[in-house]
Formats: sequence, C-alpha cells, structure tokens
Amino acid sequence: MALKYVDEYRDGELAKNLIVSINALDTGNLRLMEVCGTHTMSIFRHGIRSVLPDTIKLLSGPGCPVCVTAQQDIDAFVDLSMQDNVILTTFGDLIKVPGTFSSLQKEKAAGRDIRIIYSVFDALDISEANPKMKVVFCGVGFETTTPTVAASILMAEKRGIDNFFVHSAHKLTPPALAALMQTSGVDINGFILPGHVSVITGIHGYRDVFEKYRIPSVIAGFEPVDILKAIFMLAKQNQSGIPSLENGYERAVSEDGNTKAREIMNQVFQTSDTIWRGIGEIPQSGMKLKTTYNRFNALEKFHIELRDSPEPAGCACGQILMGLKTPEDCSMYGRKCTPAHPVGPCMVSSEGSCAAHYRYKG
Ligand code: SF4
Repeated sequence: MALKYVDEYRDGELAKNLIVSINALDTGNLRLMEVCGTHTMSIFRHGIRSVLPDTIKLLSGPGCPVCVTAQQDIDAFVDLSMQDNVILTTFGDLIKVPGTFSSLQKEKAAGRDIRIIYSVFDALDISEANPKMKVVFCGVGFETTTPTVAASILMAEKRGIDNFFVHSAHKLTPPALAALMQTSGVDINGFILPGHVSVITGIHGYRDVFEKYRIPSVIAGFEPVDILKAIFMLAKQNQSGIPSLENGYERAVSEDGNTKAREIMNQVFQTSDTIWRGIGEIPQSGMKLKTTYNRFNALEKFHIELRDSPEPAGCACGQILMGLKTPEDCSMYGRKCTPAHPVGPCMVSSEGSCAAHYRYKG
C-alpha cells in the first residue's frame, strides 16, 4: 500500500479496511510493543487500542526520551543548574521530572536561571548574548536529536563560542531493543519501530538486532493508517510464523537512513555504556562526547560526578518501559501520581505512557 499524500494516512475507509483485515487474521494472543513515545500518543489520540481484537495487546516501550533518562542524569541536570553563573537550557518536558532532592522546576522557582528552549541552537544564541555566563544544554534523546546537538557543538567551535556546554544523556535505540530481549519476563511478539529514529538509522540500523532475536519488526509512521498497517504486518508475520524486518514507512525511511546526520553525530560523539531508567546499564547504548570535544562537557567543566541515584520509591516507570507492567499496575497511578503532581517521568512527558493513559483513558 503506497500512498502519496499525508491525508490518505488518515483516511477512514482505509483504516476501516485495515481493522477488518487485522480482525480476520488468526494469530492467537499477541503482545506488540510500540517502541516510540510519539507512537504511544498517536495510538491513544486515535483510539487505536479500542479497535483491535482483544487478542492484540499494545505495550509502550523505551522510546520516550525523558522517561528513559536515568535518575542520576536528572540529578546531574539539577546540580548543573545550581552552579554559579550558569544558564541551564532544556526542552520543556524535562523541567518537571522529579530528581532525588529537587527538580529543575523547583530550582527555577527558587531563582536559578533555567530556560526552556525549542532548539539546541537557541542555547548557542543565549551563549553569545551572555558571554560572562556559562550556558549548559541538557542533552536527552535518541538518534533523532543527537546529530543536531553534535551540529550545535561543531557550530560553537566554528563561531568561537567557549561558554557553551552539554551534558549528554543521549541514547541509541537498537541496543535497548537487544537489552529488552535479554530481560527475563519480557514477552513481546513484535516491535512497531520508531519512524523518526529510523529516518536516521535506516532499516539497516536494526538488522543486527533482528538477525539475533528474530522478532517480527515493522518501521511505522505516525498517522492512524501507518500504525494500523504496521499492526497488520506484524500480525501477518506472527500468523505465518516467519519473522521479518519490514519498512512500513517507505515515504520517509530508506535502507541506509540519513548517513550525513550519522556522520556528524559520530564526529562529535562516541558510543558508551549508559544507564537507562528501570532497565539499568546497557552496553554501548549511550553517546558521550569524544575526547576532542571534551571541552564542551558540562560535567567535566563543573567537576560534577554522576551519583548513584535511586529511582522514586514505588514508581513502576522502568517496568512499564519494558512492557512488564501497565500504568494501571502502579499503585500511585492517578492517586499520588498525576500530570499535575508527577512522581516519575512517565507521568511527566507528553510522550510518557502513564501520561497518555491518564489523558486518554478517562
Ligand atoms: S503512575 Fe507515576 S509513579 Fe506510577 S509508574 Fe507512572 S510515573 Fe511512576
């Protein structure tokens, strides 16, 4: 099914036909994970769960950047905001995530200079406009975000900006999928792979993980027809018993992805072991600054070490990100933990599973 215009991916008739086709398949019980937080929101917004047969269960995965950011990184961002003569710049969702002792929101209320920006390049402009201040950018996100942050560092170098720093908590998607498959109790019959990330990684980026674990996998766009099509393709793979790695987002994702973006990312960053919320350390799943660019490293600049920070007591965010629990399984969901008073990041982020359940289920 190759469509040309985005409206066609919202076409009610097409969606209806796909729903009929999905219901006609004989797959038995299926647990499909939408890896990406944008998919989670789209699935809820369009009521996709409600049109699937009871046998198909959708689980949210580790693809919400704020949700997977480890507590130690949240604490580091808070620590950085408390340094003298610092302007801390961040994307909006991160500000509300509770750290161990404080949050960026609380520190902002206490008078720290914390600014919400919409592009990392805004942080460069702030650096140039405030030469006596040190401007720190909170780097979270996946393959979609990291190349832009790398480009901002190259630009800072070119423009001779020496008061711009980054704490990189950036992460890579394929190692997280591999880690999920190695976790006991994880039970997934198919991955709906993230569209935006795949634009950068290409189909190629998933080949190693797919060959190792042979889990049905389909790259999907974000419109309702895209998602239904991916579910249909995954259900068909399960019915046939032949797993494959398919591209359901042909209009945006190629075999090789965006090689230029990856080149820029790999010029500035290198892979490293890093901690994911709830999952723990995943080998070579983080992106840290290369030694050549270490002068932009915020933690080094301010001599801050990552702490051994515990996750909020009772918060099941980590298990939710692995498909082991649903938000409703958390005793604090909708009681102690709401979007107005979040306990964990899954209730903070606009892409978080708990926030999506809370917003759309009622
Ligand atoms: S409802 Fe709140 S406390 Fe429970 S898992 Fe979600 S974010 Fe954590």
